[in-house]
Amino acid sequence: MTVREHVPLASLTTLRVGGTARFVIECLSENDVVDALAFSTERMLPWRVLGEGSNVLARDEPYEGVILLMRNEGIEASTEGDHVFLTAGAGVSWDTFVREAAARELWGIENLAGIPGTVGAAPVQNIGAYGAEVKDTIHTLRVLDTRTGEISVLTNEACEFGYRDSAFKRDSGRIILSVTFALSETPAPSLSYKDLTSAAERGEDLSTPHAIGEVVRAIRALKFPDLSCVGTAGSFFKNPTVSVETYESLKARNPAIPGFLNETGVKIPLAFVLDKVLGLRGYTQGAVSLYDAQPLVLVARNGATAHDIDTFANAIAARVQDEVGIVIEREVQKLP
Ligand code: NAP
Repeated sequence: MTVREHVPLASLTTLRVGGTARFVIECLSENDVVDALAFSTERMLPWRVLGEGSNVLARDEPYEGVILLMRNEGIEASTEGDHVFLTAGAGVSWDTFVREAAARELWGIENLAGIPGTVGAAPVQNIGAYGAEVKDTIHTLRVLDTRTGEISVLTNEACEFGYRDSAFKRDSGRIILSVTFALSETPAPSLSYKDLTSAAERGEDLSTPHAIGEVVRAIRALKFPDLSCVGTAGSFFKNPTVSVETYESLKARNPAIPGFLNETGVKIPLAFVLDKVLGLRGYTQGAVSLYDAQPLVLVARNGATAHDIDTFANAIAARVQDEVGIVIEREVQKLP
């Protein structure tokens, strides 16, 4: 267990803003996690868990607490019938895990290639892309309940997965230590999303999990900014689901607006609303902008503060509510 003091949160989060954390503990094993919690308790300090910090907005003020950096790695495989179970430590980088599954020719998570973050963070917001959601392959999770100190195995159902949502967002008292995925050796390409059907029409190779992963990474590279160049957390807001009536009234004014019927209404791409309805593509306030190639992505350049990002995001949400009548929710969570 390595303990560092007064660490800039900008160095631990992809939005690259924020004050310093009093302590940062790198947890290389489950024991390190237990020891880090004991360290916090002894000093009566609050704690928070971070993976790669790709979906969080730190505050500008110093954090007088302990950040547990999940860095426990390792991937193990076992087989049962047609299913191969891969168990990965919470600290494994998500795309490394996707590549490992593809190298074993296992299907199920190839459409989720290139998403930043760790395996342990993936269930928290039930990451999804191109018609796949991580919940569809999660078998069980090994979880530490920090209130009781007990380690238990949770089933998929116990996680209450929803659209970019899970029980872990509402209860931060549990730390995900590792995740077991049920993947399949049987080919099951899921190519219904426009970007992938277009790739198929162009004759790109989509015959293996590896090939699909590479196509998805290439598509993402065109739409999302390079994390090594600017501060960003990918999509800042969730795509909203609106009532059929709201969708129809939007469509009457904007005939090209896509809509995808689901159990609760019609899901619409917020990027379309920001770009075509509100004309906000590339909209900038100081050092914060909506990304040109994908307006759902917020970009923070050098000099931006957490306050600037917060103010900017609130202004965007207010415009969507005032001018289009839709209440939007952030995908990015505040830290702490
Ligand atoms: P996109 O593919 O243009 O999709 C925009 C919106 O339309 C999304 O809400 C998407 O639903 C929906 N949609 C598109 N085609 C659909 C279909 N055939 N059936 C049902 N719904 C459909 O969006 P993008 O911004 O370029 O992003 C590409 C993918 O990456 C999307 O799936 C997006 O959700 C995902 N993404 C995920 C995260 C994350 O997990 N944190 C972050 C960024 C982007 P879905 O949202 O259900 O896919």
